Amino acid sequence: MVVSTPDIVGPFTDIVQQTSIFIWDITANNVPRDLHWDRLLITFFLAICLFVFYRGNGSKNGKGEVRKTGFLEYLLPKDIYTHVSARVDIWLWILERALRPFWVVSLFATVGPVTEKKVIATLQWFFGATPGIDPNYAWMLLFALVSLLCYDFVFYAIHYAMHKIPALWAIHKVHHSAEVLTPLTRSREHFLAGPIWAAGSAFSFAFAAGIFAYLFDGGITQATILGAGVFSFILGLTGAFRHYHIQVRYPRWVEKWIQSPAMHHTHHSYLKKHWDTNLAAVTSIYDRMFGTLYIPEKDEFTPWGIGPETQREYRSFMQNTIGPFRDWYKMLANGDSPQAGAAVSSEESA
Ligand SMILES: [Zn+2]
Ligand SMILES: [Zn+2]
Repeated sequence: MVVSTPDIVGPFTDIVQQTSIFIWDITANNVPRDLHWDRLLITFFLAICLFVFYRGNGSKNGKGEVRKTGFLEYLLPKDIYTHVSARVDIWLWILERALRPFWVVSLFATVGPVTEKKVIATLQWFFGATPGIDPNYAWMLLFALVSLLCYDFVFYAIHYAMHKIPALWAIHKVHHSAEVLTPLTRSREHFLAGPIWAAGSAFSFAFAAGIFAYLFDGGITQATILGAGVFSFILGLTGAFRHYHIQVRYPRWVEKWIQSPAMHHTHHSYLKKHWDTNLAAVTSIYDRMFGTLYIPEKDEFTPWGIGPETQREYRSFMQNTIGPFRDWYKMLANGDSPQAGAAVSSEESA
């Protein structure tokens, strides 16, 4: 008797097949921009420049200490890339990416247009009809600058709230539980953090776009797309270096205006003097305004993570994924008042 292979696919087989295709698709096609070959090439080139410029100094090890190394160790320190934290970065990123399409599309499609319309309507109500300014290059530049400042402010506000409000810190802790910094640490977030950041950036960009659409009487879609491209490229590069183990510093006077990657190294440190500092994404303006700026010294020691007392509760992928739910349950069960929790949170935060 010849047994032929069945053509009928059962639902379980089908689901598993579909899911693995879906996960593969996400992993392969949804690689963060800073890990695309062109960006990696630029990063690699910059790393060579840094190695030559700093003469082998400036690369940190897994403990957050700067030391002089050979080129290979400078680029890929073994203790960082074999660390369990680097592996957890990958799994957290895959989960976050798999869920991302659902809320990115919905949030950008709702928050963006609603914000834009409200801003335009409010300006019309206050100032009457649009002045219909001709958008020359100077205006376009101003539009880009205002977009950046809006984005940075909203980023700062959300980040500040995430550090100070215990229920939000429970989510953001996952980003800070990274014990080493790798290119993927940038995307290391609890999956619940994604919608918050996406809503924030949709709101901030749409806010600026609303103002300028009013001033120019619409017609700035092309400029917005162009500006967003340039902006995301720059943000992509500086954002990537924030989470590399190589300490990149700018002259002190520049760091008073723009966050250097080294300033984000201190943001990830669990030393008390580094807690809740350098909260903005691009500029140092808001950190200066609200007293959270911290400019590190040369080769400053930055032990990464949430500190020896709580780190063992945030080591594996599972621990990081259920962490916020467990914290919330504890908060509810203990009936913690937000103030009491905030004190606890800022003690733990990095
Ligand atoms: Zn943070
Ligand atoms: Zn970070």
